[in-house]
Amino acid sequence: MTSIDAFLDPRMSAFGESRSSMAVSRLAQARRAGKDIVSLLVGEPDFETPPHIRAAACDAISAGHTRYTVSAGILPLREAVCRKLARDNGVPCDPFRVIITTGAKQALFLAFMATVGHGDEVIVPAPYWVSYPEMVRLFGGTPVIVPGDPARGLKADPAALAAAITPRTKWLVLNFPANPTGSNLTAQDASALARLLQEHPHVRLMTDEVYEHVVFSGGLARHPLALAPHLTDRVLIVNSLSKTYAMTGWRVGYAAGPQALIDAMVSLQSQSTSNTCTVAQHAALAALDGPQGFIHEWRSEYASRWRLLVRRLHGRFGLRCVEPEGAFYVFVECSSLLGRVRPDGRPIDNDGDVADHLFSHGVAVIEGDAFGMSPWFRASVATSGANIEQACDRIVTALERLQ
Ligand code: PLP
Repeated sequence: MTSIDAFLDPRMSAFGESRSSMAVSRLAQARRAGKDIVSLLVGEPDFETPPHIRAAACDAISAGHTRYTVSAGILPLREAVCRKLARDNGVPCDPFRVIITTGAKQALFLAFMATVGHGDEVIVPAPYWVSYPEMVRLFGGTPVIVPGDPARGLKADPAALAAAITPRTKWLVLNFPANPTGSNLTAQDASALARLLQEHPHVRLMTDEVYEHVVFSGGLARHPLALAPHLTDRVLIVNSLSKTYAMTGWRVGYAAGPQALIDAMVSLQSQSTSNTCTVAQHAALAALDGPQGFIHEWRSEYASRWRLLVRRLHGRFGLRCVEPEGAFYVFVECSSLLGRVRPDGRPIDNDGDVADHLFSHGVAVIEGDAFGMSPWFRASVATSGANIEQACDRIVTALERLQ
């Protein structure tokens, strides 16, 4: 009998569970064992989905919207996405260039599956959201990692992005505001990007905008497509309802882009999941077309939390925090801790050791290595101010115990 390892496709040997999911599993295990851990791991709002969105889902069930939909997603929702793109981003679109997906994650997955093969390269600025390089590798492509520039809040320098382009480059993937740094796209960045695409006609841009409404300064990013509408056929916009509307569990995202690519993604969806959950699609429609006021309240709550964390940690023990322009994370540089020694005599050699040491003192964070940049760690502020205070107290105690 063949072992299950031999039965799995060789691709799976290099493909694993996402590092952030693994950190969440470790936290759950520790808590089951009775350990008291404050989590700064969470990648989702700690607010409830607003009542009018939940009510729309109940109404959809009562009205019998419980069957399959067309694979691209219900037309009224695709039309609502187009209204949103015009309203928030200044990007015109038609509903036949939109696909509704099971979260932004599935949109990214389908887009890579439809376009990336052996020998293809995808430029991924670091630090990056954990799943991009893994998805690219799964389909046989090579992620080309471009380290962010510390002088630009860890945003990649446009010249460095241009230098990474080769004839095999398929995509440049950009996430703004970014997980884990919170850096956002300025109007200047958007023009530099438009120029870069102009100069390299074989390169396409994939924008992951899931944190678009969690912004603290400068408002919504100026969209490269609003500046350069003639690039419409070369840009795939990926977004979701997860972070903006506290709908992570509803699993609704979308992509808007060139017709041929959207058609290919719809074919893949039709042969795999068929469609995004029908009830969730109706809830998403209520979210996109409904009141948006609460977004501002949540935004200022996140802002006061990250300010609290930065006030407590920046400069202490040599830690350096990047002040986020958006999203709900603080990325913390911790090179000052390398070479220090834990109470049990083990040295701190890397940011994984820093995360382990903090975990043993009751605080869960994710090491920067998971995001392709060391030695750093990511602390989420999608949790209460009281939790952040307690986490900071514990971090201080943990770091005081290092020799
Ligand atoms: N993109 C980024 C940058 C994220 O941080 C996340 C979730 O953490 C996702 C995509 C996935 O979002 P969704 O819930 O819409 O699949």
